[in-house]
Amino acid sequence: MKFDLAYCLSLDDKLSIYDVRDLNFDETMAFDSAKEHFQCPNDACRLTFDAANVLGTFNAKNVNYVRTPHFKNLPSTRHVEGCPYVSLKAPAPGVDADGAETDDSREEHFPSELLLTRRAYVRKSSSPVAGADVQRDEPQIPSQTSGTEQPSRDSAPDKTSIFAHPVECFVSNFDDKDLLKRMPLKIGEHTAPYGSFFKKIEYLQDNKGLIYWGKIKEIKDYTQSFRIDFEKKVWLEKKPYSVNVYLSKKLIDTYRKRKAFLEEIKHAIESGRELYCFFYGVTPELKQVPSKKKPEQTFGVFSASIENLDHFMVREAPGLAGK
Ligand SMILES: [Zn+2]
Repeated sequence: MKFDLAYCLSLDDKLSIYDVRDLNFDETMAFDSAKEHFQCPNDACRLTFDAANVLGTFNAKNVNYVRTPHFKNLPSTRHVEGCPYVSLKAPAPGVDADGAETDDSREEHFPSELLLTRRAYVRKSSSPVAGADVQRDEPQIPSQTSGTEQPSRDSAPDKTSIFAHPVECFVSNFDDKDLLKRMPLKIGEHTAPYGSFFKKIEYLQDNKGLIYWGKIKEIKDYTQSFRIDFEKKVWLEKKPYSVNVYLSKKLIDTYRKRKAFLEEIKHAIESGRELYCFFYGVTPELKQVPSKKKPEQTFGVFSASIENLDHFMVREAPGLAGK
């Protein structure tokens, strides 16, 4: 069992590794995971040992990661007897903490819902105890996926407001189709298994309001925007149409994770690697745009402008190669 959450001392709250990444990149908040203390999410463990009994992180600060981010035991980490997290192996002494890890790199903790409103993180000193995250304490409402069995869980299915978390679930478990069919995901009013909530870009006409994904063909850097071109085309009435999404530079300039976002895009333009784009919130639609060579002519393209950068990401995904 992997750590689903860790207790963050300064926030007096339990965070997922994706919350930690979001906080690291958030320029409106002073947070550096390397300076924070993370402890076992099991309250009994935390109450038994002092604040020096901490966990480590993997890929907490790396903008362009491939391997699944997670919390991990350090050689010095202790747990009480019977703690479900006790069996997690600490890296062997001498193994580079952030490099040569060999444990299974799948995301095991599937959030049951992506919350579209960002979670509020409140520092312990500025606001003691209550108020930080009311939503987490609400009873879980079973999602209404017809005929889909909810697998039993060691911990309650969680909600997240970090888009990268369900994306990692999908990417790292891509070869386990049954699992992706079984696990439900809710966003807004819509609930569907992970396997069908994530829709290949070439099939975007099937349904609106899903998470669309596809391999990137090219990223164009224009004066006012970036344009992401997808490799696959959409077929409509036996004709192929290109698909793209626009990212407004104005939107990026006011984004709270501006630096990290620009780094992600810059890497995507320069890396030459196979990259995939995931987005939620808009559905590209057929538009007629003027041809560059012959301005009197127009051609059709499926296009959309991304409205919320929190629900967009570009990343490597070796498990999706060829898809
Ligand atoms: Zn523990």
